[in-house]
Amino acid sequence: MNDLAKFKIGTILDYSVEGKSTEEVLDHTRDEVIATIKRAKGNPQIPFSVFKVTGISRTELLEKWNKADAKLSAEDEKELQVVLARVDAICKAAFEADVPLFIDAEDSWFQDGIDRMTNQMMAKYNKQKAIVYNTLQMYRHDRLEFLKKTYQESVDGNYFVGIKLVRGAYMEKEREKAAAEGYKEPIQANKEATDRDYNLALEFMVDHLDKFSICAGTHNEKSSAHLVDLMTKKNISKEDKRIYFAQLLGMSDHISFNLAHHGYNVAKYVPYGPVREVMPYLMRRAQENTSVAGQMGRELSLIVKEKERRKKLKA
Ligand SMILES: Cc1cc2nc3c(=O)[nH]c(=O)nc-3n(C[C@H](O)[C@H](O)[C@H](O)COP(=O)(O)OP(=O)(O)OC[C@H]3O[C@@H](n4cnc5c(N)ncnc54)[C@H](O)[C@@H]3O)c2cc1C
Repeated sequence: MNDLAKFKIGTILDYSVEGKSTEEVLDHTRDEVIATIKRAKGNPQIPFSVFKVTGISRTELLEKWNKADAKLSAEDEKELQVVLARVDAICKAAFEADVPLFIDAEDSWFQDGIDRMTNQMMAKYNKQKAIVYNTLQMYRHDRLEFLKKTYQESVDGNYFVGIKLVRGAYMEKEREKAAAEGYKEPIQANKEATDRDYNLALEFMVDHLDKFSICAGTHNEKSSAHLVDLMTKKNISKEDKRIYFAQLLGMSDHISFNLAHHGYNVAKYVPYGPVREVMPYLMRRAQENTSVAGQMGRELSLIVKEKERRKKLKA
């Protein structure tokens, strides 16, 4: 955290334990997230806190509750109320500490339920400004419409909206499940459509900055540059706290460090937890770094180029 702060980059402490199911462990994860929020209180080095709903709920329950008209057994209903109370406890802690909180986006078979919870929390805790942020995965073809609906609901309900905008990390899983179960996959037809919607969502939010607070969670240079351009065109200050850029620790440092150097708000997700428990998270990153069209290759070639440049400077 201190090292990042030297370069004006904030830290987002991400307790990355996933896929647990006992009540004791789920309560522990809630307490750990609340501890990170308290740690962030009044600390400019930690501009956001974050959690995943699957970290504080049994995933089978979330999947059952995903459909708005789902009928739960009395026992499941009781368990759900405990989950909702955990979500509320975390959001309340964020509100009281005045630390904005991201709720990560997950697989589509959990996400409708997560969206319902998150919208409720925004209506409750975002009356003065965005404390609770939902996450939108633009690899889904329905998210732009969802964003506009979220906006309308916030106008009607008189609250602010926080959005972390990402492309989405679970594409292969989404496609496999849709194919296996024979429903239409929620994923865009191709990468270009994802990129287009990502940029359109940025434009929509910047156009409605009276309502939105934005975090562009991306390693894509063009999307980051697009947001910079939109801010310049609209004369929005680089330091406006309603707009943040975020990358994962160790990824796309060339974006994070350059943006921060030029005065933009930047933060890095810093995952932590017992190594064995954060393996699923780390494996996803490793896969991403091999599958994302040349991302790592591009970063490495930039590093090699920069080393050459510095060598020549010295010579
Ligand atoms: C700060 C931060 C927070 C994040 N939080 C979340 C989160 O809460 N939930 C989550 O799911 N992810 C999250 N991610 C991961 C993110 O969704 C992406 O997987 C990752 O950042 C790569 O996308 P990109 O925008 O950086 O770059 P790019 O390299 O430009 O895009 C790669 C992405 O494009 C999409 N894509 C690739 N091929 C296709 C195709 N053929 N058709 C359609 N789409 C395609 C996929 O989403 C893929 O991951 C987060 C990332 C960051 C940096």
